[in-house]
Parts: sequence; structure tokens; C-alpha cells
Amino acid sequence: MTVTIIGIGLIGGSLALSLKEKGIAASIIGVDKSPAHIQKALDLKLIDRSDTLDQAVKVSDLIFLAVPVDAILEILPRVLDQVKDQVVVDLGSTKSKILEAVRDHPRRGRLVAAHPMAGTEYSGPEAALKDLFKDKTMVLCDVKKSDEDAFEMVENLVDSLQMRSVFMNATEHDVHTAYVSHISHITSFALALTVLEKEKEEGHIFELASGGFESTVRLAKSSPDMWVPVFRQNRENVLDVLEEHIRQLKNMQHLLEKEDYEAFYKLIQRSNRIRKILR
Ligand code: NAP
Repeated sequence: MTVTIIGIGLIGGSLALSLKEKGIAASIIGVDKSPAHIQKALDLKLIDRSDTLDQAVKVSDLIFLAVPVDAILEILPRVLDQVKDQVVVDLGSTKSKILEAVRDHPRRGRLVAAHPMAGTEYSGPEAALKDLFKDKTMVLCDVKKSDEDAFEMVENLVDSLQMRSVFMNATEHDVHTAYVSHISHITSFALALTVLEKEKEEGHIFELASGGFESTVRLAKSSPDMWVPVFRQNRENVLDVLEEHIRQLKNMQHLLEKEDYEAFYKLIQRSNRIRKILR
């Protein structure tokens, strides 16, 4: 089948590699606002050719949206306006605002809302990885609003990518991703800023950075182009979890000030319960 990928960066490019490798896509058309990314995607053979959005949608069986979530809000209604029996999949990291924007669209049924719980801190077509999605979770949202054949096509695709499907409504999705994914990015951005502010000697950061610092601060390499629209669209849930996070930090500060190491010990023990969930 012919597949169009709108936004040929980390997620779109990785998907292109998998669709080619699994023999799912005979031809992949790339659509991107960046001519340099299109050229890179052609050089890396992520896509077979590029086209304008309108032309690409017309000749494709399956259309993915892998642009930042503010751009999905803009582009998705335009894509749905043009589809007949094709299937459209949005891969954005937020869902409520996106699905709200097309709730009453006459072709809403052709859309399947999906969020691959896979990624890295890098962006653009050069960041694309062949096995990015393997053994990861695909969250499928509000699937009852999708036409049966569209949902079935995407469910089979998720299986072919060797991913697990998890079903949620858009509201649940946005709450849980704020708790697990969005807050980790905020924490990492804040940690990077803290260390950059306190440690003026860049050489010391480089020399002293151990595995712990590197793994905690890794997400701070992520692109603001992708993350600010996520925080904007999921503002309320992110503010809610951020409040709890700040409460935890303040509690640690308070215990250290009081030199209550016994309570601090117990606090760390409680946090170690995460070992049971993530081995
Ligand atoms: P990315 O690597 O930055 O790729 C996005 C691509 O879309 C870039 O080439 C970008 O070009 C292009 N683009 C931006 N606005 C556009 C527009 N209006 N029209 C056409 N192309 C446009 O980002 P990504 O990490 O792949 O993220 C893509 C989507 O996947 C986002 O919705 C994100 O929420 C979701 N997602 C990301 C992850 C993750 O961990 N990164 C995980 C799951 C889902 P420019 O760079 O020139 O702007």
C-alpha cells in the first residue's frame, strides 16, 4: 500500500523504517515543512518521494501525522476534509485537544488516535531508529469513534510492529501521560537548568557527570518544538502533577534543613517501591 507520513522526524522516520522492513508499505511519501528534512529523509531512504500534503493524501491508503501536536491540531481537519475511505492515524503525545478539534468532523471515523510510548531525546530524520517501536506500547484512544475497518487496520499494524496495544479514552490518556511521561521531561529540564546555573565550569560537568547524572538529565536534550506544544495542550494535568512534585522536593529540603535523616531514609525507601514496578 501507499503510505504518507506527515512530519518525517524521529517518530515519522522510525515508522517509515519499520513499515518498509515489515513489507507493509510499498511506497512511502514524505510531507514536511522542512526541505532539509525531506532531503535527509530521501538520502536515508526513509521515504521514496515527497509531495504536497494535498497530493500525497489523495494517492495514499494510510496517512500518519507525526508533526508536533500544535501542528496536528492545524493539519488534521484539513487531512480529514480530503479523505474518502483512507485511514488516518495521529501519533501525537496528547489526545484531548486533538480529538476535540475533530469531534464533529463528518469523516471522524477514518481517524485512529494512537500514541506510541517510544522515543528518544533526539529529533529530525537522522534520529530515526529501525526498532524504536518493537516491544513498546501503543496507546489507542477513543477507538469506538473510529470506523471498524480503520481500527482493524491499525490494530493489525500495531501487531506487525510487535507492539502491545493499550486502550484508553483521551482524558485518561492525557492524565496518565502527564504523570508518567510529561513530568519526567519537566524534571529533566529543571535538573539541567539547576546544574547549569550552579556549576559554571562546563568542564566540571563533563568530567564529573556519572551514569546517574547522565541518565537523569538525558531528556533535557529534547526539542522545545515538540515539548512546548505538549505542555500547552496538557497544561492542567501537567500543573497538577507538577504541584505534587514540588511538594516532594520541598519535603526533602525541609528534612535536610531539620537534619532528619531517619525520615529521609524512610522517604527513599518508599521511593524504592518503583523497583517492583520497573525492574
Ligand atoms: P521531530 O523529530 O521534531 O519531527 C517532526 C517533524 O515535523 C520535523 O521534521 C518538523 O520540521 C516537521 N514539522 C513541524 N511542523 C510541521 C508542519 N506544520 N507541517 C509539516 N511538517 C512539520 O518530532 P518527533 O519527536 O518525531 O515528534 C512527532 C510527533 O510524535 C509529535 O506529535 C510528538 O508529540 C509525537 N511523539 C513523540 C515522541 C518522542 O519521544 N519524541 C513519542 C511519541 C509521540 P521542523 O523540525 O523543521 O519543524
